[in-house]
Amino acid sequence: MPSLIHTLQKIVKQVDQAPDIQHALDIIVENLVDTANIDICSIFINLHDDRENLLLMANRGLQAGIVNKIKLQMGEGLVGMVAEKAEPVRLEDALQHKNFVHFEGSGEENFPVFMGVPIISQRKILGVLVVQRGRQAFDNDDEAFLTTLATQLANAIMHAQSSGQMAELLKGESASLSNILSGVAGAPGMTMGRAVVISHGAALHNVPDRKIKGNDAIENEIGSFKNAIESVKQALHDQAEGMKQSLPEEECALFTAYAQMLDSGSLVDDTCQRIRQGNWAPAAWRKTVEEHADVFSAMDDEYLAERANDIRDLGRRVLQRMMSEQTEQTVFPDKFVLVGEEIMATDFASLPLHNLQAIVSEHGSGSSHVAILAHALGIPAVMGVTNLPYTQMEGLLVVADGYSGKVYIDPKRALLNDLKLYIREEARIADSLKELKNKPAITLDGYRVSLFVNSGLMSDLTPSLRSGAEGIGLYRTEIPFQIRESFPSEDDQSRIYRDVLETFAGMPVVLRTLDVGGDKPLDYFPIKEANPFLGWRGIRITLDHPDIFITQVRAMIRASIGLENLHILLPMISSIQELDDAMILIHRAKDEIEEELGEHIRFPQVGAMIEVPSAIYQIEEICQLVDFVSIGTNDLTQYLIAVDRNNEAVAELFSSLHPSVLRAMEQIVQGANRQNTPVSVCGELAGDPLGVMALMGMGIESLSMSAGSLFRVKKVIRSFTHHEMVEYFNEIITLSDAQDVKDFYIERLDEKGLGGLIRAGQ
Ligand code: PEP
Ligand code: MG
Repeated sequence: MPSLIHTLQKIVKQVDQAPDIQHALDIIVENLVDTANIDICSIFINLHDDRENLLLMANRGLQAGIVNKIKLQMGEGLVGMVAEKAEPVRLEDALQHKNFVHFEGSGEENFPVFMGVPIISQRKILGVLVVQRGRQAFDNDDEAFLTTLATQLANAIMHAQSSGQMAELLKGESASLSNILSGVAGAPGMTMGRAVVISHGAALHNVPDRKIKGNDAIENEIGSFKNAIESVKQALHDQAEGMKQSLPEEECALFTAYAQMLDSGSLVDDTCQRIRQGNWAPAAWRKTVEEHADVFSAMDDEYLAERANDIRDLGRRVLQRMMSEQTEQTVFPDKFVLVGEEIMATDFASLPLHNLQAIVSEHGSGSSHVAILAHALGIPAVMGVTNLPYTQMEGLLVVADGYSGKVYIDPKRALLNDLKLYIREEARIADSLKELKNKPAITLDGYRVSLFVNSGLMSDLTPSLRSGAEGIGLYRTEIPFQIRESFPSEDDQSRIYRDVLETFAGMPVVLRTLDVGGDKPLDYFPIKEANPFLGWRGIRITLDHPDIFITQVRAMIRASIGLENLHILLPMISSIQELDDAMILIHRAKDEIEEELGEHIRFPQVGAMIEVPSAIYQIEEICQLVDFVSIGTNDLTQYLIAVDRNNEAVAELFSSLHPSVLRAMEQIVQGANRQNTPVSVCGELAGDPLGVMALMGMGIESLSMSAGSLFRVKKVIRSFTHHEMVEYFNEIITLSDAQDVKDFYIERLDEKGLGGLIRAGQ
């Protein structure tokens, strides 16, 4: 085999730059035959059709014209065997193996030494990479090399599948590859709309393609592009001048060299040509920069290869100018689906929410905060869609299924008609549930449960009120902090809290103190940590900053005067000391206000969130210090199973119905009951029809959820007896797997004809 690392780097670089998947496959087989001591190299791709056929899609060394002619099933021949076993196979004499299948005229009989490695991504077999030669067995190093190459190839194939390239390539070969992508369920519901792609900051790679029409629009884009170029050139000259005093001349010359690159006709001309072909300036620029940078980075000369970075840096600078000059506002279609590499909770603040149908994001998972917010607003969400081709999606029709986590991009007519039926059915169920608004959440045998909503935006207060909730069980105060540019003052905060407390006057409102850190950053309070979820988060930050904590608690107490419905909730409690410290500060805030106003103020109810595993084992001590506890199933699950709630790669492992999580919650409930402390649940599990059955079965009487879930949850509660739920819980608590728990509860829902509450698409 070749000098491994160098060959590998070279191939990976070329594959990265290949214009499409066929070129990428050809580059691999060609390079291996040219540079490694290999006679035949083949790549088979899994068509994922009815029989999981493996099609030969690239080859060097066999008879010409054989590509696309050999097709094997899983388990068939040596290639099928590699795919089925999902592990590498090395043979010194493949011809003697019982699985060997001879292809007449292929010319492989003289090359019996065989090695095949599976191409795998996320447990799926995407294909098989095969090398063969006449003599000399393959060794461990060869296997390591090929396995590494196969992981790179897997990325390219995944990307080709999601961008539709693979389907195009296979037209006529396979009808099953299409633009149906899988992510994870973010927020329930199924809807459709035109894609609006959102990008944050001036990152070249995520600038979406956007069509422009008409000469005026084209001239405008060219004008804005040329202005940006001129202003970056000027800035570079100014920088060079300004640095003359402090930097040696050669270093200053770098800025001038940069400016000269912008003078080179091709960067500008190529971009203008792309604009004339109908793409807006930022995307035309993105393509030109990528093309030029790729040419440099493919060069063997290290110095020249490095210039690729200079071009990309220039690319970012020019893009930044263009974006800052883009005065035109995004035009939102009547019904749109927000699509992007990453969608932030704060994006909601600038969108016409009444037109927003769904969100589809490449990153994140069902328990990311943006998904939780979408849920609160009743907007379906699909998260963690790996290789989402968002740059090419602007304006396309997108159907999002927030139950199964599927996304359909520009579906064909027959499929679209089916999807429309599901959407109608979904709307019908939602409609039929509305009649539950004024009915109590009571089981068939008369067991009453209190239902509250989770909130955080002013825009979700109205849906919350309309849902017939009995109060707010969790108000995430970090959201108003996140959509501002600096810490809100005590007066600002007090106004926000007053609105919330007033909207729900006469009902309990639980305001949680600031829970930033983890995946909830504040731009104006940057925190850089290797492990943010295990770092400076929630109560840890606010106790270290009593100024922030006291200001917030003062604002809450002031806002509640005369309403008396304030409950304060402390997030991320992991020790008794934290509770003691927080209590001292709350008392201080209350005393200060009493003194300032000269009147007696009622001390608010104070509760602790139980979401860190250490709190489970100190539940009784915690209960002795607070008025109530609230279980945060999102973080509790994340920390108990050690699954990052935000990471799509492990999203399938994240389940609050995991038996360990259920058993932990049962312990919490029992501990709180022994102390006569009210216990509620405010994590996403409380809004999941399956979760509700488990929670009620373990004795929970108070649930707080996204407003969008309330009717569904009420429907479940009103369809069973409490006795049944307790019996079910006694059964599931002995099960060993989250999926078994899920299946058990799905069957119970189906028995009552309630399956439609948890699924739309299939
Ligand atoms: C939780 O962790 O379950 C919770 C309700 O809080 P958040 O999702 O805001 O972290
Ligand atoms: Mg939490």
